[in-house]
Amino acid sequence: MKYVSTRGHSASQTFTDILLEGLAPDGGLMVPEQWPRLTRPKLDVMRDLPYPRLAFEILRFFADDFPGAELKALAERTYTAEVFGTPEITPLSTLEPNLHLLALSNGPTLAFKDVAMQLLGNLFESVLEKQDRHLNVLGATSGDTGSAAEHALKGKARVNVFMLSPHGRMSPFQRAQMYALQDSNVFNIAIEGMFDDCQDVVKSVNLDPEFKARHAIGAVNSINWARVVAQVVYYFKGYFAATGTNDEQASFAVPSGNFGNIFAGYVAKRMGLPIRRLVLATNENDVLDEFFRTGRYRPRKAAETQATSSPSMDISRASNFERFVWDAVDQDGDKVAWLWKQLEEKGGFDLSTDRAWEKIEDDSGFVSGRSTHEDRVKTIRHVKERYGVVIDPHTADGVKIALRVREPRHPMICLETALPAKFDETIVEALGEHAPRPASFEGIEALPQRYEVMRADPEAVKAYIASRTDLHRGSMQ
Ligand SMILES: *Cc1c(COP(=O)(O)O)cnc(C)c1O
Repeated sequence: MKYVSTRGHSASQTFTDILLEGLAPDGGLMVPEQWPRLTRPKLDVMRDLPYPRLAFEILRFFADDFPGAELKALAERTYTAEVFGTPEITPLSTLEPNLHLLALSNGPTLAFKDVAMQLLGNLFESVLEKQDRHLNVLGATSGDTGSAAEHALKGKARVNVFMLSPHGRMSPFQRAQMYALQDSNVFNIAIEGMFDDCQDVVKSVNLDPEFKARHAIGAVNSINWARVVAQVVYYFKGYFAATGTNDEQASFAVPSGNFGNIFAGYVAKRMGLPIRRLVLATNENDVLDEFFRTGRYRPRKAAETQATSSPSMDISRASNFERFVWDAVDQDGDKVAWLWKQLEEKGGFDLSTDRAWEKIEDDSGFVSGRSTHEDRVKTIRHVKERYGVVIDPHTADGVKIALRVREPRHPMICLETALPAKFDETIVEALGEHAPRPASFEGIEALPQRYEVMRADPEAVKAYIASRTDLHRGSMQ
């Protein structure tokens, strides 16, 4: 499998080549040259596989430059009951006939990002070892991504994690999840400012190619292709669990922000998994809902992005969306480059009169909707009263739209993207009681914490990274 850029002007690369990279040199995102297609017999065999084997069967299509035995061992080491709570990894539960929840958030940080990040940590370790390289992952987080990355990379050889977070602006629970890590390769930097300030610092460091190269700066952000592939697996798992045979169709409802999760569902559909609808749910930050309703893509400015009670979906532009548009315009890189130039120059583009729009409306399976805080609170209450289950505010955004568009004859699978314990404030507002908290998380706020408070100053952050990585280098074998 070769990977090409969505903008058509970068040399093709392998899975290993793109594993540690961010953007393609021409500014696009890397995508497979063609989608693997599953035959019916292959799909039938996959139906009964345990999660790690299923993950291996899907990964090997995309990572065919990895030795099979190694990939298989890696999947088996990643997807264990010890890390994800059950041997099923992403168990399906049924609220009522043809209405299901797919639990994606039983990993170490209680959000679905663990499913991909845990694999990424092991892939990084393996490739860095083979290439005799080291990597300093630098990122900014408002909560979920940073903690998932730290828990996936902690204690790994050849990797350090430098994670910037807004000082005093995360919940005590989120803070504890990150700052209580005692591993010597994890560096928490609490920036005096907001999340945007953290992101600006990261951008600014990345604009210094000399520093980047000298300190082997890398990222684990949501455009990472391996993360998308890892997420394809649970669409298969959920489909098999909710249907009796591969003749049936099932729909998925996906709380969306950067378009990474639902794009994985789209990839599964393109591979031949019988997915009927992909229900895209947004909160008040509704750029994606607007696109799927109107054909117009109009990313917001950071200042227009609202802070909501489903904070992990508070995005202004959906970074993986370019991969979908590339496929919708028949993989025409020049057209994607032109559209993204429109974005830069005019702040948006309009596909509603394009040939691609017909294809999106007729074949892509996407339907969309948005929720408000009020909707989330009502949905959390409704699901608790009707089914006795407590869901988190992000999952509620998905369930809300799922209930509106589901068809009685086809299973609707709602992706549960976080556990309610992470967002207790909204649960208390909706239910008048605290969210259930897994036993191993009792009292984590009281654990000793390790972090450095710094100004939002790229030079100071660079100096900090340099001092830590030089130390590290000095002690390396
Ligand atoms: C990241 C996140 C999302 C959004 O997923 P995308 O892949 O960015 O669309 C939804 N819910 C939770 C809990 C998240 O952490």
